[in-house]
Amino acid sequence: MNGKDICGKICYGCTACHAICPRSAIKMEENEKGFLYPVIDSSLCIDCGLCRKACSQKNEYNLPGEAFIAKHKDEEAYLHSQSGGAFTALSDIVLKAGGLVYGAALDESFEAMHARAVCAKERDAMRGSKYVQSRMEDIYAKVERDMEDKIVLFSGTPCQIGGLLKYLRAKGIDAKNLYTVDIICHGVPSVKVWRDLMGYYEKKEKSRIERVIFRDKGLGGWRGHITTFYLKKNRYRMRSTVSYSTQIWH
Ligand SMILES: Cc1cc2nc3c(=O)[nH]c(=O)nc-3n(C[C@H](O)[C@H](O)[C@H](O)COP(=O)(O)OP(=O)(O)OC[C@H]3O[C@@H](n4cnc5c(N)ncnc54)[C@H](O)[C@@H]3O)c2cc1C
Repeated sequence: MNGKDICGKICYGCTACHAICPRSAIKMEENEKGFLYPVIDSSLCIDCGLCRKACSQKNEYNLPGEAFIAKHKDEEAYLHSQSGGAFTALSDIVLKAGGLVYGAALDESFEAMHARAVCAKERDAMRGSKYVQSRMEDIYAKVERDMEDKIVLFSGTPCQIGGLLKYLRAKGIDAKNLYTVDIICHGVPSVKVWRDLMGYYEKKEKSRIERVIFRDKGLGGWRGHITTFYLKKNRYRMRSTVSYSTQIWH
């Protein structure tokens, strides 16, 4: 069985069903296209229905009443952010109040995963868009534990936030200590495509990747979509108009 069987329609891969399962019967596995989806081990399933209750696909959405446009006053903050740096401003308030921040960072293989930050240095790794599905693993359970005695700011795609809120609601947990920051998101690209692409360039250039900037403000400005790979041997830039494709130069 896969995610479609749990939620009946389209699965967003938010991981709420995986996180809530009392028998650990639901694992997140990459499908053939490289997207993480829940897969049920029916030998462990007790049909308790919690996965269906936590499914974010069944969320009801409200349109926001008011909207604001914001840009961080500090140049360093917005130049190291993907857009105007609102995430830095909001997370700074939470960190200064002794709270914790969750968001998407890159692991040592340059794949996105959700992480927990207790200070600005750790939070800084969450700044910048990672155009790939972020692994959540046991992050909802960590948020739940931290929320018991601290304020928590959780940032991610609207699907991940919808999943977290449904997970907490299904467990009857009061979310008064939780603040959420949804990014505007058209959808996440596949980690398989991203992994293949990095492997391709490393092989072609015979050099390991050391650092990645998904949308380099230094090159494409605010509107550009240029991914920069820093290789061990030199810097390698890729202009990417649609996902991860086209024109390459050294
Ligand atoms: C997958 C994806 C799709 C996007 N689609 C659109 C779009 O359709 N239209 C548009 O205008 N903008 C889109 N964006 C851009 C996004 O909305 C901006 O990056 C964000 O608003 C930057 O705000 P900031 O400067 O305050 O954040 P920054 O300081 O740059 O912080 C980045 C924030 O994004 C989160 N984040 C980064 N990568 C991921 C990820 N893979 N999964 C979950 N959370 C992540 C971090 O946790 C952090 O909260 C997309 C970004 C991503 C990652």
